Amino acid sequence: MKKVLILSVLFAAAFAKNSNAQSSSEVFSKKGYKLTFENQDTSFSKDLKAKLVQTFFEVYAKLSKEYNKKTTKNVTFVIDTAYDGVAATADARVVFSSKYMTKHPKDIDVVTHEVMHIVQDYGNSNGPGWLTEGIADYARSKFGVDNAGAKWTLPAFKATQSYENSYRITARFLTWIEKSVKPGIVKDLDAQLRDHSFTDDSWKKETGKTLDELWAAYAANPTI
Ligand SMILES: [Zn+2]
Repeated sequence: MKKVLILSVLFAAAFAKNSNAQSSSEVFSKKGYKLTFENQDTSFSKDLKAKLVQTFFEVYAKLSKEYNKKTTKNVTFVIDTAYDGVAATADARVVFSSKYMTKHPKDIDVVTHEVMHIVQDYGNSNGPGWLTEGIADYARSKFGVDNAGAKWTLPAFKATQSYENSYRITARFLTWIEKSVKPGIVKDLDAQLRDHSFTDDSWKKETGKTLDELWAAYAANPTI
């Protein structure tokens, strides 16, 4: 514990020197999980920070239990003042745009989507990127703490859509397959993507239908 503290202080000092900005690093622990919170934005809302930390502990344990019990116990959040996107995750490190989060404080389930990427842990995936993102948004729709508060919903089906549209459009398709064709398919596909046994044939093995046949059936009756 002492060692961890010293290291994080050193890191914060080194970072401050390099970026010429003040940054702080704190460590939160709960039920065997550890979250290191690096904050480059001295004016970042304390309430929002608390909410991000709280949401992490709430959803990460659930996602781990549902999808991957071997997922890492050590995660880092970075509040980045220079990052222009929304958030991005690599190697159990989630970078949040301080600008975006400050402007959209209710979009707290960005946490859920991003930490699902840690749980997914596909490495050099042999599956398509749209499926990785679709599964992350499926997990957000199922385990998010306040999607309603962010007015975040799965968009209604439109004939112009494709499963390759990724994110929420793919998440809605997966929801439909779960409800109408094969309950548990997301867990199965997620496990196959992680152990790299996923192939284009996985859809047929799971449901008796190819991916395109599934999409055609979805388009014919997209109710969820
Ligand atoms: Zn993503």
